[in-house]
Amino acid sequence: MLYLPTRIFMGSGALSQARSYISKQGKKALIVTGKSSAHKSGVLAELLPLLKAEGIAHSVFNKVRENPDLGCVMAGKDQFLCTGCDFIIAIGGGSPLDAAKAISLAAANMLSEDQLYDETLRKKSFRIVAIPTTHGTGSEVTQYSVLTNTKTKIKAGFGSDLIFPRLAIVDGRYMTSLSITVSLNTSMDALSHLLEGIYSTNRQPLLFPMIARGIGLIIKNLPLCLKEPDNLPAREALAQASLWGGVAIAHTSTTLQHAIGYPFTTEFGAPHGLANAMFLKQIMRLYAPKIKPELSQLFDKIGMDQEEFLAWLDSFPIQLKVDLSGIKLDEWIAQILSSRNIQISPVIPTADELREIIKSVQKG
Ligand code: NAP
Ligand code: FE
Repeated sequence: MLYLPTRIFMGSGALSQARSYISKQGKKALIVTGKSSAHKSGVLAELLPLLKAEGIAHSVFNKVRENPDLGCVMAGKDQFLCTGCDFIIAIGGGSPLDAAKAISLAAANMLSEDQLYDETLRKKSFRIVAIPTTHGTGSEVTQYSVLTNTKTKIKAGFGSDLIFPRLAIVDGRYMTSLSITVSLNTSMDALSHLLEGIYSTNRQPLLFPMIARGIGLIIKNLPLCLKEPDNLPAREALAQASLWGGVAIAHTSTTLQHAIGYPFTTEFGAPHGLANAMFLKQIMRLYAPKIKPELSQLFDKIGMDQEEFLAWLDSFPIQLKVDLSGIKLDEWIAQILSSRNIQISPVIPTADELREIIKSVQKG
């Protein structure tokens, strides 16, 4: 079964194509974004005149930091309600997009920090228009919001059909301002999502051709984009791969591949894409024996075998080594094994196997 309620506009000029649809979303938008992405990407310069011409008022909430926490969501909810907004336009990477989704639910259902993860309390939402400025999360087409609980330092996602964006406006021009590091890390996130579309026990064979195409686009265009950040066709290809990755996980959810990276982000500040990337090889090797037919079908389509693919991965600086000596690994392992991503992983490792995988990134 496939389900995707988001209307997608892609390519140069996607925002103008979406104009009449944007004007139907509401009368006053809360623009949810980070400190700099809405400006650097060029989105704001194109969006503000469009809103003015359509008679849509706005209020800007630009306080979303990387890996947003529940406190940020509450501040966004307060601003949404105090300024009389009736829909949200999210601009940025996955962080602002995910924060926007949670703000929409919190404002519509008057949820407190502690109530956000309680699905019985989610009855309605405010509409969301998502404009991604990174090519990694695919959050513009997913029902997920990934947030960090500042008190427990646990990063965890939730999913609700109520927070699928109404509109996704995906334009590679908004991504040419990304740094080389963010370009690499976010592409690795997209690659993880595409692979997880095959790994997950919820895999949908109907999506396999799209997944193989997305991985092929990353293999061809990522090296090009890192050399020539302004290369628009390469950015558009990566934006497309990221979108396909989002469509994939919207149907399958993410697996241990994601769960294992979350504590590295909360403890060591590892960017999300890098936290996935540092375990891509280990997870593929763990899962491979259980999903041989699916993987060989994928590798046939992309014209590489598994070892060639892993060697290709090695050509990028994605190996973060960290000092694990002060870490209570038993607590991490319990947290990872109890996350919602685990049950749909094709192989659930034992605590000892997981410890070995984690220790593979030990410094020294
Ligand atoms: P991000 O945290 O949104 O942004 C990373 C950095 O890139 C920020 O410093 C941001 O700047 C900057 N930036 C963004 N766009 C830019 C542009 N066009 N030009 C220059 N700088 C730009 O990164 P992300 O990797 O896209 O998102 C990661 C988050 O998404 C994580 O919390 C992850 O868990 C979540 N995620 C969600 C899903 C989902 O389905 N919902 C899937 C995977 C991951 P500013 O902060 O200054 O604006
Ligand atoms: Fe991700």
